[in-house]
Parts: sequence; C-alpha cells; structure tokens
Amino acid sequence: MGTIEENLQEVRKEIPAHVTLVAVSKTKPNDAILEAYEFGERIFGENRVQELADKWEALPKDIEWHMIGHLQSNKVKYIAPFVSLIHAVDKDKLLYEIDKEAKKNNRVIRVLLQFHIADEDTKFGLSLDEAEELLESERFRELKNIEVAGVMGMATFTEDENQVRKEFQTLKSIFDKLKSAYFSSTASFKDISMGMSGDYRIAIEEGSTMVRIGSSIFGTRN
Ligand SMILES: *Cc1c(COP(=O)(O)O)cnc(C)c1O
Repeated sequence: MGTIEENLQEVRKEIPAHVTLVAVSKTKPNDAILEAYEFGERIFGENRVQELADKWEALPKDIEWHMIGHLQSNKVKYIAPFVSLIHAVDKDKLLYEIDKEAKKNNRVIRVLLQFHIADEDTKFGLSLDEAEELLESERFRELKNIEVAGVMGMATFTEDENQVRKEFQTLKSIFDKLKSAYFSSTASFKDISMGMSGDYRIAIEEGSTMVRIGSSIFGTRN
C-alpha cells in the first residue's frame, strides 16, 4: 500500500466522473482524514454515531459526512444537525425518526433505502415489497423533511465474482423499478450506492453511482 495520497490517486483513476467517491474513514484517526482532505477529498463515510459526531466536531466544516452503517432510531438525533446523507435506511420507523429530527433542525436530510441483496442473513435491508409498502403509504407522503435520494446495498463477501455481479444487478433493477413507479419526476432520486474496496469495479460496471471505499484508501483496519 502507498500513502493515502497515492492510494486516493489510484482509486480516483478507476472511478468515472458520474460516480461519487465516499472515503470510508471509520476507525481511522483525524490526521488520516486531514491527509485525504488536503488532497481534495470532501466526502467521508462513517458507521458509528459517536465517532461520526466527534469527527464532525473536530474537522473542517466543509466536509460532507455520510452515515453508511446501521443506524438505530434513538441515535438519529446526534447526527441530524449535520449529516449529509444517511445510506442505510432499512425500516419505516427509522425514516419517520429521521424526518422528525430533521424538522427539529430545520433541514431536509437526504437518505438512501437499503436493500438486502446479499446471500447472508446478517446484513440489514428492506425487501422490495417492504419498500413498496412504505412508499405507497399515506404517512410517507406526509414526510416533509427527508428526501429519498436512491438505494444502497452490500454484496455478499465472497470470491465469486458472478454472485457479486448478480447481486449488484438486483439492486440496479430495484432502483429502476422504484424510479419508474414512484420517482419518475423526482430528479433527486438518482443514486445507487454500491461497491466497496473489494468490489467497486464490478459495482461501477453494474450501474453504481456512489462507491464507499475505505481500506483501499486508508489501509486495513484492525
Ligand atoms: C466499512 C464499510 C465500507 C468500506 O469497506 P472497505 O472494504 O474498507 O472499502 C463500505 N460500506 C460500508 C457500509 C461499510 O461499513
């Protein structure tokens, strides 16, 4: 592995202009984030509420912070004042809570709906049926302080490239279905967050618009 700068440069070479890079800085110290920041990176992803809030406090205010991990409803309030995108909305109840806290903070919070595409029961996410039920509900239509910006998913952790590719294709087709059924005139529903260090090249080939890359930039985590 090179320095953070060298790694970032390598990763950026692989990412086309229409794909957003989220630099996943979880467990990494602030000086590592600042190194990436100095090299132009402004979008960072974290998966723990406390760590995210601490880093937001300590680091430059023009950073866009993405919450990429599983989020409990009772912790939304700690990130609602500043979070720029919540990737992993996997329950209607969580969405209502985000709306409520966004309203208190006088803002609109962008979210992605997380889908279960992997062949592992440990990963969180909605099924297509659950998402349709949510999006068709009266209550959903009344939410004014969230903006559903797209979908997110994680592929199975496997060497089987075909399986990973198929799972990404599933997420792309879910995105297309939701787009045409519910968001055809909503320009802001546009993102497919899929792809991590091990599989982002496949994800991009299968239509990803947002990749979440940690270890290929910052090195392995403990
Ligand atoms: C940690 C994490 C990533 C980044 O993983 P790497 O393999 O280090 O690139 C991406 N997405 C989520 C949801 C994560 O928790």
